[in-house]
Amino acid sequence: MSFTLAIVGRPNVGKSTLFNRLVGKRLALVDDQPGVTRDLREGEARLGDLRFTVVDTAGLEDATDNSLEGRMRRLTERAVDMADICLFMIDARVGVTPIDQMFAEILRKKSAHVILAANKAEGNAADAGVLDAWGLGLGEPIRLSGEHGEGLNDLYSQLMPLA
Ligand code: GDP
Ligand code: MG
Repeated sequence: MSFTLAIVGRPNVGKSTLFNRLVGKRLALVDDQPGVTRDLREGEARLGDLRFTVVDTAGLEDATDNSLEGRMRRLTERAVDMADICLFMIDARVGVTPIDQMFAEILRKKSAHVILAANKAEGNAADAGVLDAWGLGLGEPIRLSGEHGEGLNDLYSQLMPLA
């Protein structure tokens, strides 16, 4: 049995970087190549002995300021509907923002099965943000660094029961 994991969260928290690491190909593009990333991007992920489908909510970066919130909502709702489980990512170096709270609200309304990830958590600069993430009321945050490949064992532990 396999499952679908959607990576959701506001722009720039590191969703595509993690997606690329899980898929192992440059299928999703990071934010220094604007205009290339579009909407929802699907790939076949490998994590240890797990194989699953991963969905990156891309295309958020393209929206103009006034349409960004609505676009984020619609795309995230679509991703949640496709997924068995959502990896909700925040930037631990920034902490929880009002937009993160909006995402948490979407996930609660949809009764999504959520794994909370405090990303960019390599080093000490992220400690306050990781603590902050507990305040979202979505359980214990995983300390993750998609860029450095840290915390993937904790992600594995949370996903393994679903496989
Ligand atoms: P997305 O908009 O959520 O898809 O975010 P991206 O994956 O495009 O990453 C946004 C920026 O954060 C890029 O400059 C990445 O290099 C950087 N980034 C991603 N993951 C990490 C991480 O684990 N640690 C740090 N320090 N930076 C990261
Ligand atoms: Mg992206």
